[in-house]
Amino acid sequence: MTSICILGSTGSVGVQSLEVARSLGLKVSGLSAYSEVELLAEQARQFGPAMVGIGDVRAEARARALFSRMSTPPELFFGPEGVSQVAAAAEHDLVVNAIVGFAGVWPTLAAIDAGHDVALANKETLVAAGSVIMDRARQEGVAIRPIDSEHSAIYQCIQGQGREAVARIILTASGGPFIDRYDFADISVAEAISHPNWNMGPKISVDSATMINKALEVVEARWLFDVDSEMIDIVVHRESVIHSMVEYCDGSIIAQLGTADMRTPIQYALTCPERVEGLAAKLDLSSIGKLTFEKPDLSRFPGAGLGHEALRHKGVVPAVMSAANEEAVRLFLHGAVRFVDIVDLVMEAMESSPRIEEPSLDDIVEADVWAREFVRGRCRSCTR
Ligand code: MG
Repeated sequence: MTSICILGSTGSVGVQSLEVARSLGLKVSGLSAYSEVELLAEQARQFGPAMVGIGDVRAEARARALFSRMSTPPELFFGPEGVSQVAAAAEHDLVVNAIVGFAGVWPTLAAIDAGHDVALANKETLVAAGSVIMDRARQEGVAIRPIDSEHSAIYQCIQGQGREAVARIILTASGGPFIDRYDFADISVAEAISHPNWNMGPKISVDSATMINKALEVVEARWLFDVDSEMIDIVVHRESVIHSMVEYCDGSIIAQLGTADMRTPIQYALTCPERVEGLAAKLDLSSIGKLTFEKPDLSRFPGAGLGHEALRHKGVVPAVMSAANEEAVRLFLHGAVRFVDIVDLVMEAMESSPRIEEPSLDDIVEADVWAREFVRGRCRSCTR
């Protein structure tokens, strides 16, 4: 039986990964979360992992008290180091990384170094440190399987095809909740986190609303599929039925379609190249009627173009883009900046970013810290 470890198990993708693991009858050998220890303990009770990581050291006392009440408590590990130890444990066949943000980079590398294939939902990791991660994965001979719905679609569309035959990757974008909105002043947090098609966590919902999500996904695709940024196009497809497409040199386009349910890409990452009965509702094409496609409006959504921009600058600029965005979104969710400030702050950070050719992981970590400080510094002069 396959044993999987799920990092970030209390988040949206983590919870759905556990649902999929249960339906596939997989053994769960490890779990981790940042600070939601109550839900984590409940998951541990249901799935019986041998080891559990808790990223936030401040949650240690609370976690110890909760887990000590279990009849067979798992071994507990604390702090970022602890989460990496869980990721690296020998008993996993596959590590699902559903951690949100750059913090996911260490456990990803720990899992790769331990020789585990990684199912990656943690897009910030690839955006910031794609070259480091993919190089390391190649050296260790491990597979990085995408969970992000677009990249899962592309991954499915390129099965059995040679890389040389790929002419273009077409990333679809729902456009988010504000696709028909022209006045972005006074957008509330509640409005920004209510995505029309997908059920996702708050960070990625805001990214979808600013369309910076597509910028992150362009960089993610560049690394996952080893393509130049000029080969990656974004097309707005409001229905979220086609999850992305690959155009081949002969002009054929292969697309992956399905209902907008993250459990489908999660399951494919766990079973590929096999396919088994899934949990998502089946697509009823005739009830959908038609599919529409439009160019992204970069004047209203400049965030969508930042991935290509970041890749043109290379070096640490993609890491700066992602970290500045993480910080700006965090400030927005706390009411410290306006919705319209998010993309401005990210663009300012990218313009002022240090330029480093072929950065090491240390350079990337430094750039990440720099970008967050830059955004916090600018925030003092934000309007609210
Ligand atoms: Mg996506």
